[in-house]
Amino acid sequence: MSTTERPRILVVGGGYVGLYAARRILKKMRYGEATVTVVDPRSYMTYQPFLPEAAAGNISPRHVVVPLRRVLPKAEVLTGRVTTIDQDRKVATIAPLVGEAYELPFDYLVVALGAVSRTFPIPGLAEQGIGMKGIEEAIGLRNHVLEQLDKADSTNDEEIRRKALTFVFVGGGFAGAETIGEVEDMARDAAKYYKNVSREDMRFILVDAADKILPEVGPKLGKYGKEHLEGRGVEVYLSTSMDSCVDGHVVLKNGLEVDSNTIVWTAGVKPNPVLSRYGLPLGPRGHVDCETTLQVKGTDYIWAAGDNAQVPDLVGRKAGNENAWCPPNAQHALRQARVLGDNVLSGMRGFPQKDYSHANKGAVAGLGLHKGVAMIVMGKMKIKLKGRLAWYMHRGYHGMAMPTWNRKIRVFADWTLGMFLKREVVSLGAIETPREEFYEAAKPAPVASAPKEKTEAKAKEKTEEKAKAS
Ligand SMILES: Cc1cc2nc3c(=O)[nH]c(=O)nc-3n(C[C@H](O)[C@H](O)[C@H](O)COP(=O)(O)OP(=O)(O)OC[C@H]3O[C@@H](n4cnc5c(N)ncnc54)[C@H](O)[C@@H]3O)c2cc1C
Repeated sequence: MSTTERPRILVVGGGYVGLYAARRILKKMRYGEATVTVVDPRSYMTYQPFLPEAAAGNISPRHVVVPLRRVLPKAEVLTGRVTTIDQDRKVATIAPLVGEAYELPFDYLVVALGAVSRTFPIPGLAEQGIGMKGIEEAIGLRNHVLEQLDKADSTNDEEIRRKALTFVFVGGGFAGAETIGEVEDMARDAAKYYKNVSREDMRFILVDAADKILPEVGPKLGKYGKEHLEGRGVEVYLSTSMDSCVDGHVVLKNGLEVDSNTIVWTAGVKPNPVLSRYGLPLGPRGHVDCETTLQVKGTDYIWAAGDNAQVPDLVGRKAGNENAWCPPNAQHALRQARVLGDNVLSGMRGFPQKDYSHANKGAVAGLGLHKGVAMIVMGKMKIKLKGRLAWYMHRGYHGMAMPTWNRKIRVFADWTLGMFLKREVVSLGAIETPREEFYEAAKPAPVASAPKEKTEAKAKEKTEEKAKAS
């Protein structure tokens, strides 16, 4: 990390908001006006709306992430976590990937930590569940699901087979519905390569505590989404929740019990809990409390936006809903980041702040190849699309929203290749333990006396058994 004479703008989090805000500041900043430092435990930004497609193998994992150092060449990018903020001294504590934590002074602060999976103390969940917030989880899930097909294909044990071929998804919002839609599509398609596994052998279950799925696209399209998934053989259980999943034995509130090796948890998000150590004003659900200018309440040098911020929704409030807040989605995160970037520069230069206001433009969701739902808002009109057309809207919108032309081109290239070549269905589960085989080869050979010791131990066991029997 460099020492700097210039004021430092510290951006905590290099996700959607962090990346776009830093780019905006760097683009509009005068030469040498400030040092922009971005801190994130990952060296890349993840385009989360593409995680379900990455899990299905439609997009290469590397193309779903954007390397921070490459797209922010003028920024100082540090890989680590910001663990605390001392507002009196204007100092952040950074825990780097390796080595001792250190302090970093700043003049202006952007808080863009996003959200983490919202979980409940359900027995077995921590041990058995997997979330869908990062590329690691998406690829882990893909490898895991394909591995279950490998297992089922190669066993004679019906119990193992059934457990391997049962897939449970909890949470039917954007993330859950898209993930089950994509993974079910991929797994059933992969069945054609397996002699002992058919499409019908697989059981997919979607559970949600609410009485609908996909609330983001409205009740009608949500109902369509549910019926569409059911038409594909997915069992959808609404107004129910998962009581436990110890050792993969899933028990639902509605009485259903199944055994499954795959429990995907997509039941919502909550603001990053590390915020409680930053000393910032927080709302009732743990979000940083912001003004309409994205300035953190009671401060004139700290801004926050995205999933970790509670930002008044001016459009909703103008329409009469006094308690309207911006929902946590990419649509707001991206636009808030731009206003935030401008406001940081204005704050630094002593100019007035701009309000953030954005009218919902709708939502698109992919539910597998050539399947989707889309709601496009045009003024007072809501256009609802489903099926192939909606799926094209989903791909077109997100393909163009992907940051940088480099990534856009790679994503479109993946999709184009996918039209001509068959879907890749190989499981690379061993990639998670790459040293295992080498370790086996390189570990010291057993000492020469070992066989003798073994024989002696066996003989001793036998004598003891005989003595017991007599
Ligand atoms: C599977 C999935 C599908 C989605 N689909 C859609 C969609 O179709 N449409 C839509 O509008 N939205 C969608 N979203 C939501 C959207 O992706 C988020 O709203 C958006 O990413 C929020 O941006 P953010 O910058 O607030 O958080 P993030 O993008 O999550 O960034 C937060 C960053 O903070 C970093 N961080 C965490 N802790 C620390 C720390 N201690 N110090 C420093 N950095 C830290 C993280 O590593 C991360 O890079 C989806 C989300 C998911 C998970």
